[in-house]
Amino acid sequence: MTDLQSRPLIDLDAARTHELDRAHVFHSWSAQDLIDPMVVTRAEGSWLWDGEGTKLLDFTSQLVFTNLGHQHPRVVAAIQEQAATLCTVAPSYANAARSEAARLIASHTPEGLDRIFFTNGGADANEHAIRMARLHTGRQKVLSTYRSYHGGTQLAVNVTGDPRRWSNDAASTGTVHFFGPFLYRSEFHATTEAEEGARALEHLEHLVAMEGPQTIAAIMLETIPGTAGIMLPPAGYLQGVRDLCDRHGIVYIADEVMCGFGRTGRWFAVEDHGVVPDLLTFAKGVNSGYVPLGGVAISAEIAATFGQRPYPGGLTYSGHPLACAAAVATIRAMEDEQVVEHAAHLGRDVIGPALRELAARHPWVGEVRGTGVFWAIELVADAATREPLAPYGGSSPAMGAILAACREEGLLPFANYHRIHVVPPLTISDEDVLAGIAMIDRALTRAHAA
Ligand code: PLP
Repeated sequence: MTDLQSRPLIDLDAARTHELDRAHVFHSWSAQDLIDPMVVTRAEGSWLWDGEGTKLLDFTSQLVFTNLGHQHPRVVAAIQEQAATLCTVAPSYANAARSEAARLIASHTPEGLDRIFFTNGGADANEHAIRMARLHTGRQKVLSTYRSYHGGTQLAVNVTGDPRRWSNDAASTGTVHFFGPFLYRSEFHATTEAEEGARALEHLEHLVAMEGPQTIAAIMLETIPGTAGIMLPPAGYLQGVRDLCDRHGIVYIADEVMCGFGRTGRWFAVEDHGVVPDLLTFAKGVNSGYVPLGGVAISAEIAATFGQRPYPGGLTYSGHPLACAAAVATIRAMEDEQVVEHAAHLGRDVIGPALRELAARHPWVGEVRGTGVFWAIELVADAATREPLAPYGGSSPAMGAILAACREEGLLPFANYHRIHVVPPLTISDEDVLAGIAMIDRALTRAHAA
């Protein structure tokens, strides 16, 4: 072996990594001078190590994408094998990794969503779904909920309802927002899930009538809104949306970028609601995020729109072989290791009971809600008024103290405004998930006492 071959390609210690990051990397969603990114040196399963060598329990799955945990051997091997055979080829050619990934994905998407358009991630999947809906209907407007996140590219961030939309609103064209159901903070003065679902549907019916149904191309909904708060839709709500779309020829787009691929204890969250959307977008869990990949699963009717006329859109790396090989390995591992069943078990038997018990003891916990490995702890300054522990779209010293205490306990927490989300890998063991919840428990106690 020559000297050159024996040297690692990138040989930086943690301090130098941090120094180069601060000098040259421009970070997403951040004030560049105010951040101090943690250096991650290695990761395995549900754990990762920081620059000081401290081992942390990853309760984030990063941005809720490492559904199989870090460094799953089958996915790593699939990427290596594909790289050795065919690293890349343009999307106009057929290649085995993409064909097999499309077949496997279509074998799990709801019935009839059998054609797969591949993208590089979730935002571009949503952009393309909207383009398909607009061309299919010949209409322009897209409706989505205030409590939603659909991605950071221009149209996806306009369709997004939560505060990440605000500073990009000026360029918004044809997007209209409405209130989805959320009983804990009901906009409809509802006191039961059934009331909330019915009133939220009535609100959407009125909105569609006022906007003019013949101007509306699509309603885009996260089946369970993710970063906006993990609110499970009441029984019947999504069926009502499906029916509304059918009556007016509106395309129903389900965004399952975060909640899809097993996160909820189902392959796709719509399965729990007995509805089939016209388009379903996915990313993240499709290959645990090991190589960027997203896509749109398309109904036969919409696919037929582009049977004789070209679909005017595409991406250089659509269906990239390395990403598709990772998807094939991920989906096969999920099937063989019964990962979706384990996610359902964790939600039902482990996380749900543990979080409810914690909620009963902590004055700051207003509500816990979720399913599978997809849970939110809603933190409030006052349980009676339900005033959030941080303002909408902002932060607070109390939230800062809780998150710092989590880190001291050895946990990497996922936080959004006044909430902590419990979203570790789907493969986490019962013991580790309980250990993580105990760390949050101690962090809440310490921050409250301070
Ligand atoms: N849709 C949902 C529901 C998401 O949670 C996200 C990302 O968090 C996106 C879309 C955007 O995906 P990406 O960041 O891969 O573009």
